[in-house]
Amino acid sequence: MNWTERDLKVIWHPYTQMQTAAPPIPIVRGEGALLFDDEGMAYLDAVSSWWVNIHGHAHPYIAEKVSTQLQTLEHVIFAGFTHPTAIELAEGLLAILPKNQQKVFYSDNGSTAVEVALKMCMQYWGNQGKPRTKIVALKNAYHGDTFGAMSVSARSAFTASFDPYLFEVEFIELPDEDNIEAIKQKLSAISHELICFIFEPLVQGSAGMLMYEAKYLDELMKHCREEGILLIADEVMTGFGRTGKRFACDHLQEKPDLMCFSKGLTGGTMPLGITTCTNQIYEAFLSEDKHKTLFHGHSFTANPVSCAAALASLELFLQPETMENIKRICKRHQLFADKNSIHPKLKTIRQTGTILAMEWNTETGTSYFSNLRDRLYQFFLGKNIILRPLGNIIYFITPYCITDQQLDQLYASVEDALETF
Ligand SMILES: *Cc1c(COP(=O)(O)O)cnc(C)c1O
Repeated sequence: MNWTERDLKVIWHPYTQMQTAAPPIPIVRGEGALLFDDEGMAYLDAVSSWWVNIHGHAHPYIAEKVSTQLQTLEHVIFAGFTHPTAIELAEGLLAILPKNQQKVFYSDNGSTAVEVALKMCMQYWGNQGKPRTKIVALKNAYHGDTFGAMSVSARSAFTASFDPYLFEVEFIELPDEDNIEAIKQKLSAISHELICFIFEPLVQGSAGMLMYEAKYLDELMKHCREEGILLIADEVMTGFGRTGKRFACDHLQEKPDLMCFSKGLTGGTMPLGITTCTNQIYEAFLSEDKHKTLFHGHSFTANPVSCAAALASLELFLQPETMENIKRICKRHQLFADKNSIHPKLKTIRQTGTILAMEWNTETGTSYFSNLRDRLYQFFLGKNIILRPLGNIIYFITPYCITDQQLDQLYASVEDALETF
């Protein structure tokens, strides 16, 4: 049996209808923006392997640091004990976040980083004897697949089987010039009940790379702050350069109380989640009373190997060359977007930093289950390009080491697709 046959005998893949999906392609090696299958065929990874890779595949520097860590300390219980790599990573990350972020809490992935942020906010009010009951989130949001994260995400085909078990959330529109006053009024009317407002800053990834302006988010954040509503910026996708600055929050005047990170955090090498918060949040848990403790943790909290990957990735991220690459991708995406801004087959082409999204005009409108999706997916795969359309929306979210030539290959393939579909 080949790898694909062996896989199908024993493995159940995520987000995959196993009866109808095309068989998985076995990938055996990666280098830069390329992935290679078991027959040596190269694929250009235009989605950073589910948005996680930022410096290229099998990066030698990260590999070296991970290898050294593995041979030194692979894991240690993180309650009652600590280790140098977790400390250095926390110090290094806080140094480049908004100044109000003062404490790092470790977990395993993006969903758990969100769960931790939600629990911190809920208990923050409870610990002060002023419990609040409701969370605010944006329409079309995606914050992960665990139950708390699902609850603050849009109700959709993905959550349908679980909707009865999700807690109630106040969903608001993406803020814009026309609705901002109405949103502010709506929140003011119930502000005494509101625990926090969680949002994906500037770009709603899984919703189809929906983009909105920093200006209106700023205005909304300012209003929440005035009303005493805590702010959670979920930077799991937008963090580490995706929006053209280090973090999406660097585009904002207002600063969040809590931030969530994962995906690019380890350069896409190892699973790791981080929730950061202000001293104000942290101090609300300090007490002689043990009941005020944050009772949350995972077996692999702050795993040293994951932390070593993240620390190495952070060093690479802070090299001037990385920001130059980010600027280069932003500029080239913009040129392509300008060139195709009024293409008749495209409903929109939109860009925030290194993220470029193109929405096809279809008779049936935008839907994740659009059959155009499967045709586009296969079309690009046939050109050895890995894209994962969200319905009729295709997008690029590439490693920053992608070459100009590889970018040209992506642009040319989109132009071909525009001819074909
Ligand atoms: C992917 C994502 C998550 C969930 O992260 P996982 O590691 O997949 O659990 C949460 N929030 C945002 C904005 C994401 O893009």
